[in-house]
Amino acid sequence: MRYRIRHELFLRPEQTTFTFRNKMNQTALPIRDWGSFMPPNGVGGGGVHWNAETFRFLPTDFVLRTHLTGRYGASFLPEDMTIQDWGVTYDDLEPHYDHFEYLCGTSGTAGNLRGQIQEGGNPFEGPRSRPYPTPAQKQPFSHTLFAKAARDLGYKPFPQPSGNLSQAYTNPLGVRMGPCTYCGFCEWFGCGNYSKASPQTTILPFLIRKPNFSLRDNSEVIRINVDRSGKHATGVSFVDTGGVEWEQPADLVILSAYTMFNVQLLLHSKIGKPYDPIANAGVIGRNFTHQTISSVNGFFDNKKFNFNPFISSGAIGMCIDEFNGDNFDHGPHGFVGGAYMGQVQTNGRPIQTTPVPPGTPKWGRRGRARCATTISAASSQAPASMEASTAIATSIWISIPPTRIASAVR
Ligand SMILES: Cc1cc2nc3c(=O)[nH]c(=O)nc-3n(C[C@H](O)[C@H](O)[C@H](O)COP(=O)(O)OP(=O)(O)OC[C@H]3O[C@@H](n4cnc5c(N)ncnc54)[C@H](O)[C@@H]3O)c2cc1C
Ligand code: SF4
Repeated sequence: MRYRIRHELFLRPEQTTFTFRNKMNQTALPIRDWGSFMPPNGVGGGGVHWNAETFRFLPTDFVLRTHLTGRYGASFLPEDMTIQDWGVTYDDLEPHYDHFEYLCGTSGTAGNLRGQIQEGGNPFEGPRSRPYPTPAQKQPFSHTLFAKAARDLGYKPFPQPSGNLSQAYTNPLGVRMGPCTYCGFCEWFGCGNYSKASPQTTILPFLIRKPNFSLRDNSEVIRINVDRSGKHATGVSFVDTGGVEWEQPADLVILSAYTMFNVQLLLHSKIGKPYDPIANAGVIGRNFTHQTISSVNGFFDNKKFNFNPFISSGAIGMCIDEFNGDNFDHGPHGFVGGAYMGQVQTNGRPIQTTPVPPGTPKWGRRGRARCATTISAASSQAPASMEASTAIATSIWISIPPTRIASAVR
């Protein structure tokens, strides 16, 4: 109740919210109930309550415009699809992916080790310089069934890389983590077992011992301060819980408040050129994307199958990557992007995620009886699911609300 229903680890909409509109000619209205994105509240951010599915981007993701136009021709991408190359490549970032995974203790099976394809891993991944620091998590029954079916069809299933650790681990900073107990209360929750990679379990215990480190919680940065040229940050201004404003000078300001708040801070601080979707000019707020998830639930004969969905971590699953990114020929299909598919389980919450077939009464004896017969033989706590790329377009962007919230509410 406290975390999943009352959202205790998330920003309360009454603290602050975003306004949202589906079309440019609509009035943006405040979000009252978080749905598709859930901004975190407090130290550790989303790393506290995340699932810890720890994928790397595909090498082609970094050079997407060059890659797609090279493969399908210059006219394949619609004009309003503002896909562009990142400016850094997978090879540039590989040492940083490696560093991050070794800080987190990520559990997985390598699919491409220095260019050599590895049995049991994802053959589509970019070359990695080292194996994962810890082996993949153990897989529940429904996931192994999916993997067998995928293998029989000629696909190459691999265990989802996970920041829920398969074994005890000490990271390069000397911070120790415990093995995941597959408790199932991972997504939306912090891990009381020190088994989920988060700032609290990987880096903060190291930082707080440093004499030149201090952490100011319960403070909100309201502005990035810049020098007269407007090109160099000189620090930040923040307010504490008493409403007192402080200035923190700095040689280096790292903007890490999450996409929406990063954009908000830049715009409030008048840094950079705000994006104008009509002229398709400016940078700040441009090319906003989020994630697209779809899933299919299956109900099996409970006399033959017992999936025991209560054994779960936040990022456990068997996946295939044949339909991800540009791993297949998009030429005949007229769209770009793709998804990894898999039997992926994000939680083992027994009540909220209880799977029942359509038409099951929500209350009463019949509803309870239906639950009892389907719960352990349904795959919907580990649905066959896909997590897809979201293409960017001129019409999706972030800005300071064009309408005042007060007038929008009225
Ligand atoms: C339920 C859930 C599950 C998820 N699972 C996964 C997953 O399995 N794999 C995956 O890759 N991603 C997952 N994500 C997404 C992932 O958690 C986020 O993409 C990630 O945490 C973003 O990291 P960040 O450091 O950019 O921002 P955040 O984690 O949002 O951190 C930003 C921090 O800045 C603070 N902040 C914001 N504004 C200010 C300000 N003005 N002044 C001071 N502090 C400020 C916030 O309080 C927060 O602590 C999940 C998200 C949710 C909601
Ligand atoms: S499933 Fe439970 S024990 Fe494992 S990492 Fe998540 S919260 Fe921790």
